[in-house]
Amino acid sequence: MKFIADAMLGKLAKWLRIMGYDCGFVPHDRRDTALMLLEAREPGVILLTRDTRLMAHRDEVRIILFREQRWRDQLRKLLKELALKPDEKDYFTRCTLCNEPLADIPREEVMKAAPARTLEYEYAFSKCPACGQIYWPGTHLDAVKKEIVEIIQGL
Ligand SMILES: [Zn+2]
Repeated sequence: MKFIADAMLGKLAKWLRIMGYDCGFVPHDRRDTALMLLEAREPGVILLTRDTRLMAHRDEVRIILFREQRWRDQLRKLLKELALKPDEKDYFTRCTLCNEPLADIPREEVMKAAPARTLEYEYAFSKCPACGQIYWPGTHLDAVKKEIVEIIQGL
């Protein structure tokens, strides 16, 4: 399963990536409806949009239309509609900036790049092979888990 999120669903796309879901994002300046629809024709792809005009293509591609304005409500709707069960072990396995799966990297490699205080803890470090962003979820992971638990409880 792969998602393609429309330009108006940036925050939702970011959270889907945090949770480990494959979610492409089409920014406003690169929005090309024809191309987006073409990509959405691939098997297993679901187009996420707030644009009601795209519903004219619902016979060709799988589309989920969001009327919700807030990302938490959008995420709740998506989880419910697809009966998704987010798995904690998938959290922080994907770059939130470019959607690439992250690769584990040894602590030694980040010793210079990471702020000293993050090295005091037994964090697992990973890196995006595409943009080079280094991730160490650490305490942030607890906040994310809490947020997602609250969203799921609202279903
Ligand atoms: Zn990246």
